[in-house]
Amino acid sequence: MVCVACRRWSGRALCSACRIGLGPGPERLLSFGIARSGFIHEGAARTLVHRLKYEAVVAAGQILAAEAMAHLLPHDARALVPIPRTRWRTIRYGVDAAAVLADQLSGLTGVPALTVLTPALYGRRHAGRVLSQREVPMFGLAGRVPAGAVLVDDVLTTGSTLEAAAATLGGNVSAAITATVSV
Ligand SMILES: [Zn+2]
Repeated sequence: MVCVACRRWSGRALCSACRIGLGPGPERLLSFGIARSGFIHEGAARTLVHRLKYEAVVAAGQILAAEAMAHLLPHDARALVPIPRTRWRTIRYGVDAAAVLADQLSGLTGVPALTVLTPALYGRRHAGRVLSQREVPMFGLAGRVPAGAVLVDDVLTTGSTLEAAAATLGGNVSAAITATVSV
């Protein structure tokens, strides 16, 4: 078979050379709880996320869920809530990466995946401020989640997306897990 990351011939879905380059991601404390990430967003881990996110390679999501994320899920997790991709990106790339990861994790752990967040609209945190161009996502809500819900996403960057999602879910989020974290 071919390594999903580097696409060289390999006896495994992820070759040993790619596997060596995977570094565990640091934890980050957010306002609702701890965000845990499987790998640092570099090397083969970054390639795997890219394969899933921009090339719709579901096998990359299977590897990330099984090897980067499943062991990070809190034991008392009651639900998995994927951070939805914007609709135009889902259409353009043919995949919603976090939804794939949540489904894979659900299959591995038995914790249900609940698609209750609807894709983000973006609003300016500081309207009219030239210096602050960062856009903050605002999600819609299409259902309820139990206390102990865990957010699932592909990459953790600033944490603002996870914070916005947790705020939308009204205090029922206890943690987040992502495949990778940029440091
Ligand atoms: Zn490889």
